[in-house]
Amino acid sequence: MTTCDVGQFFDHGMLCWGTEGRCADCPNAWCEQDSGPVTPENIRQALLQAHGAARLRLSEDVPNFVPVLQALRDARELSLGEARTQAKQLAENGLAGTLVEMEVLAIRLRGRAVEVIVAPAE
Ligand SMILES: [Zn+2]
Repeated sequence: MTTCDVGQFFDHGMLCWGTEGRCADCPNAWCEQDSGPVTPENIRQALLQAHGAARLRLSEDVPNFVPVLQALRDARELSLGEARTQAKQLAENGLAGTLVEMEVLAIRLRGRAVEVIVAPAE
């Protein structure tokens, strides 16, 4: 049996994740940490289950979507088409993800003077 601790955090504006595990029956243990726009899905799912999802949305109408598209592309390494789809979601019902993922995006958007709100997804 193994026990695994997982987490996401940000460091210098980069989304990072870490996982740490140990065996209950022997001294085996490991840890792994990396950064990048996409966190491994098993870590995301564990965090979503433990903490629930967060939702990020625009707090006012934006006259110009260019800064929104730029922030999304910087943070998530998206194609322009993918960024357009996510920008539309941000303006409508919002984007959902882990709290850390949404906070990282919020920082990028605020850095481009786009007003956003992060709230629990419920
Ligand atoms: Zn073992």
